[in-house]
Amino acid sequence: VYKLVCFIKEGQKALLADYITLFINNQWVDSKSGKTFENFNPATEEKICDIAEADAEDVNEAVKSAAAAFKRNSKWRTMDASARGKILIRVGEIMMEQKHIISSLETLDAGKPYADSLGDVEHAADVFKYYAGLADKSLGKTLSPDGQYFAYTRQEPIGVCGGIIPWNYPISLFAWKVAPALASGNVCVIKPSELTPLTALHMAAIFSEAELPAGVLNVLPGYGATAGATLASHPGVRKIAFTGSTATARKIIALTANNLAKLTMELGGKSPAVILPDCDLDQAALYCHSAIMTNCGQNCCGISRNYVHADVYDEYVAKAVACAQNRVVGDPWKEDSESGSVISEVQMNKILGYIESGKREGAKLECGGERIGSKGWFLQPTVFSNVTDEMTIAKEEIFGPVQSILKFTDIEDVLDRCNDNEYGLAAACFTKDVDKAMYLSHNLKGGITWVNCADILTTQTPFGGFKGSGYGKELGEDAMKEYCEMKTVLMKM
Ligand code: NAD
Repeated sequence: VYKLVCFIKEGQKALLADYITLFINNQWVDSKSGKTFENFNPATEEKICDIAEADAEDVNEAVKSAAAAFKRNSKWRTMDASARGKILIRVGEIMMEQKHIISSLETLDAGKPYADSLGDVEHAADVFKYYAGLADKSLGKTLSPDGQYFAYTRQEPIGVCGGIIPWNYPISLFAWKVAPALASGNVCVIKPSELTPLTALHMAAIFSEAELPAGVLNVLPGYGATAGATLASHPGVRKIAFTGSTATARKIIALTANNLAKLTMELGGKSPAVILPDCDLDQAALYCHSAIMTNCGQNCCGISRNYVHADVYDEYVAKAVACAQNRVVGDPWKEDSESGSVISEVQMNKILGYIESGKREGAKLECGGERIGSKGWFLQPTVFSNVTDEMTIAKEEIFGPVQSILKFTDIEDVLDRCNDNEYGLAAACFTKDVDKAMYLSHNLKGGITWVNCADILTTQTPFGGFKGSGYGKELGEDAMKEYCEMKTVLMKM
């Protein structure tokens, strides 16, 4: 089995193969078309390696091998659920043994600080171990309808699950999809983002080492419009788990009209925080800063709208500006870097465009707003005050390090303002008053609502949005249901 070769030299540089292929049916294979694409390091703009580019024919091949692995009486289908769990535990263990290798790949590919990559890898390993423990606990119920019948329900795996992953948290989102899918007994075809395919490919090597049967996991780097669209509409695919933008989700939902695949949709966000005068203002400012600046704001549940009570508005703005100005942005391999580069020039220009719109529409630029340096896509942490609801920066997902601060005086009014947005992924409130905390958290339209903290995701807690932020849950026990279909068996007594 081909293995990616990567090591860190003097803490600075990661080296790896200069060409990486697709992973289908436990084999490393070239794409049928022979096409490849170049993979770049966003922090240096240097080429990392060439990657085989999957398109429709390769997707067909991968779905075929996954379907064969899912056939009745196959090794995977007849494997005891606890044995499936043991493979996932082994995967989590190997990930921890290789955590520096995987983190290096992630930093190289995504431009994020090495410490952040390490945190993501440890989280992803934890996700595999968590779902390993649930593999043999997908239980049904027994029923006795009408007294003349005996019935029971079974949670059955769905079959071939397609996972379509974005570039902002490649290793975590790979784990969020693959771990519950395999724990439930499914088979997977994963399409990582064309911008960050390395860790998903490395995970294929790890699964081989953990002796996952051939065909159960296939990894196909390629573009959305070709490989992604073929996967979403493929008649052999029974489930699509997608994380990405709401615009792409609409296309995928339309494509699945073809196969009626079950869907999990984790989409964009424009998450608000409500900051009341009685809260610990330092804590609120720090959480909200971190929730929008982490990963350069390329974070679906980043807190991008801060609604601050008029009584503490100026004080809060000063604290937010201090946090932003103290943030260290730079070389992702340096230990003190808190932010690295954004993913691409396109993304950088999109963010700078939003910053221009903020200035043009009358928000006050408190700090930041510029590119840093001329190599790599580094941006200053940016804070706008005097933002109003109708401004573009208050309405649209920027997906960059841009914090918008708005003012309010009345709780009912601020609830309406927070909820008046197409998205509903997450929300936060900061107050020491438990009645207000419950009132706000129950009435904010967000799939996850934080009180006195923000942007906290744990393996055990379900995550998924409302409204334009999608549907279905990842993480926690509930994610297992997303990868099962319930069958009722009814017998005449
Ligand atoms: P994107 O929608 O452009 O791409 C996501 C994935 O979809 C990529 O693998 C891409 O190749 C694929 N894709 C693109 N077009 C496709 C098509 N027509 N058919 C099938 N697949 C296709 O998103 P992105 O720019 O990679 O990521 C940023 C977005 O992801 C943001 O909007 C962000 O909010 C969202 N996001 C959401 C969550 C969440 O859990 N809710 C987490 C991370 C990111």
